[in-house]
Amino acid sequence: MHLVLLTLLLATICNPLYSSEISEEIRESHKRVLVLDSHLDTPIRLAMPGFDITERHEHPADQSQVDLPRMLEGGLDGGFWVIYTSQGELTETAYAAVKKSAFRTGNLIRKMVSDHPNEFSLALSADDAKRIADNGKISVYMSIENAYPIGTDLSVLDQFYAIGVRMLGLVHVKNNQFADSSTDPLGPRWNGLSPLGRQLVQKANDLGMIIDASHAHDLALEQMISLSRTPILLSHSGCKSVFDHPRNVGDELLLKLKNQGGVIQLNSLGAYLKTIEIPEGRKAIYKTILRDRALGEINNQPMLYKDFVHRFNAMYKRFPKEMASLDHYLAHFEHGLDLMGSKAVGVGADWDGGGGVAEMNDVSKIPYITKFLSDKGYDEKDINDIWSGNLLRLLRQAEFNKLK
Ligand SMILES: [Zn+2]
Repeated sequence: MHLVLLTLLLATICNPLYSSEISEEIRESHKRVLVLDSHLDTPIRLAMPGFDITERHEHPADQSQVDLPRMLEGGLDGGFWVIYTSQGELTETAYAAVKKSAFRTGNLIRKMVSDHPNEFSLALSADDAKRIADNGKISVYMSIENAYPIGTDLSVLDQFYAIGVRMLGLVHVKNNQFADSSTDPLGPRWNGLSPLGRQLVQKANDLGMIIDASHAHDLALEQMISLSRTPILLSHSGCKSVFDHPRNVGDELLLKLKNQGGVIQLNSLGAYLKTIEIPEGRKAIYKTILRDRALGEINNQPMLYKDFVHRFNAMYKRFPKEMASLDHYLAHFEHGLDLMGSKAVGVGADWDGGGGVAEMNDVSKIPYITKFLSDKGYDEKDINDIWSGNLLRLLRQAEFNKLK
């Protein structure tokens, strides 16, 4: 047999979920669907001079996965643009510093929209996404990953709401003042939510924000499910029974989430999809780059994008990056959809925050997900639910439940 044919045949047998062929029909259908991703970490890049969201980048050459040209190519109509804060000390001084930095990121997101009014539009309510897409623009919803910058004064959340934030992720990789993290090496401190965390859940309900439990410890997720008046979202998480990692959620809890009306948006970050050993040397370099980036921001001397790229590329040259495959990622859709159905699953691939798999390493390639869903037998209406309907339903419910 011809070698190419043999390779193709083997690829088909070995890759039952992923197919590199996307028909015109699927591409057209993908264009008709409203496509949103619930976790875009791109704002980290907006802070670095030299990064231009309207320019086409390449991954991995310049470490970028989201920009306007590739969003248009991949039919991504927008999503939640994240105000991310890494976890630091729980002191009033630290709260004041990170609050400043979080609002700076919020302003950068708003500036991206005001600098490019024909391309982007700020989205504040569930109905905005379709209207914005019909106008040929990209939706920019804002979300918080890690409520740490709120400090102990919950009225700061009103200020975040005022600048446009509509989703609140309580915690990141370490426990904070509100909740336990799924990955804190010290284990849980609060056995779920702290007393202040419980108040924060209610405050987010009162404001009409989606509550995001990605990164939260299982106990915290469970408590959010029972406390919140609005169903909980996992904005970028995975299924533990597909790959056992603390960042992924087990079937029993996923069913509780589903029964409350909640949704899991599936994450494509490699280390949550398969066992990837990261050498200590790389971890150390990675930490230094992130520390220098954060310090530069605090000292008003932000790291230049070209320096960021240069340092990342040098790190990966020394310690090559191992990627998961699209099959690893799609296995979470396969399981999540079988377990929870098409009304409780969506997409939050963690672009520009560590997401991306070998065959789908930037947003231009997301029609692969639509192709998989179509092959699995879902019609365009189901696929629309998965790509945006479920996420927007939660926002609509949050709006409905807000304190009138
Ligand atoms: Zn995250």
